Amino acid sequence: MLSEAQRAALRSTAGKNLEFDMPLAPKTSMKVGGPAAAYAEISSIVNLAATLSLAQQLSIPWAIIGFGSNLLVRDEGYPGLVVRLVGDFTKVVINGTRVRAGAATPIVSLCREAALAGLSGAEALVGIPGTIGGAVRMNAGTDVEIGDIIKRVEVLVAGEPLQTFTTPEFSYRRSSLDQRAVVTAAELELTPGDPAALQAELKRRIARRNATQPLELPNSGSMFRNPRGNHAGRLIEAAGCKGWEVGGAQVSEKHANFIVNRGGATCADVLALAARVREAVKEKSGVQLELEVHVLS
Ligand SMILES: Cc1cc2nc3c(=O)[nH]c(=O)nc-3n(C[C@H](O)[C@H](O)[C@H](O)COP(=O)(O)OP(=O)(O)OC[C@H]3O[C@@H](n4cnc5c(N)ncnc54)[C@H](O)[C@@H]3O)c2cc1C
Repeated sequence: MLSEAQRAALRSTAGKNLEFDMPLAPKTSMKVGGPAAAYAEISSIVNLAATLSLAQQLSIPWAIIGFGSNLLVRDEGYPGLVVRLVGDFTKVVINGTRVRAGAATPIVSLCREAALAGLSGAEALVGIPGTIGGAVRMNAGTDVEIGDIIKRVEVLVAGEPLQTFTTPEFSYRRSSLDQRAVVTAAELELTPGDPAALQAELKRRIARRNATQPLELPNSGSMFRNPRGNHAGRLIEAAGCKGWEVGGAQVSEKHANFIVNRGGATCADVLALAARVREAVKEKSGVQLELEVHVLS
């Protein structure tokens, strides 16, 4: 846990939007897990650079979160500083076919703004309930991934005073970003399209998600990565896991690759259920599933 000196230093640098012992469950879509020793909402690049440098200097572990839609927080919480970007990091600027979106921009807002401006390429991302920063880290997507439309990414590497530009390599749900790099903005290259047709496409994709995903209960999206040439959901269903429960966590009846929180689940429940599912799939089909969700550590 943090010493009094560490707390005082964080207080003087991170500014007024700093809290200690902040519950993190409400900041994630699964709604499980314990508190962060410290939690800061940071709205400017200057403040971000200063806060991360301080954390490095004082050996305070730190982590960045977006909307927590691909994130599990352990029940014991996080022993260091959790940072969420706000303010300056939510701006979207469109210049011709080039779009610069701050890392805290909700993916849905980016998709809507692009469609309104008659720009095509981001429609496939609509309905992914995260931020641009989280999407870049995860290379989030469906039939199109964010990495397919990224021109370059602005990052701040903890301990370094200036932002730099990078073009990470992207693969299925992964990017080659340095673990110490915080995405501060991304530049996307889109193509001209018809605004009305683009908006109809956004609506169609959202309706499809509503019909196929258990959005009425807290969840973290797909629990497992799809193995090459296969679908985790199909393997989980074939192993007979739909409806399995541990505590308040359940394998969704609607979509087998979703674990839902039926109320009162702990992170331990979710991870124990995921482990049971993995064992069952291994036994039934010989495939070793890999977690897609990140566990804050
Ligand atoms: C209902 C539902 C449906 C989903 N559907 C999809 C889908 O179709 N396709 C898909 O790919 N994903 C999907 N997801 C998962 C999730 O929405 C995406 O992975 C999303 O990109 C995560 O963004 P986030 O802001 O919530 O990141 P978080 O969950 O907060 O964080 C995820 C990871 O990114 C890191 N991170 C966050 N922000 C930054 C930053 N600024 N700089 C560096 N690292 C950062 C975190 O440290 C963490 O390691 C779904 C989730 C839900 C709940």
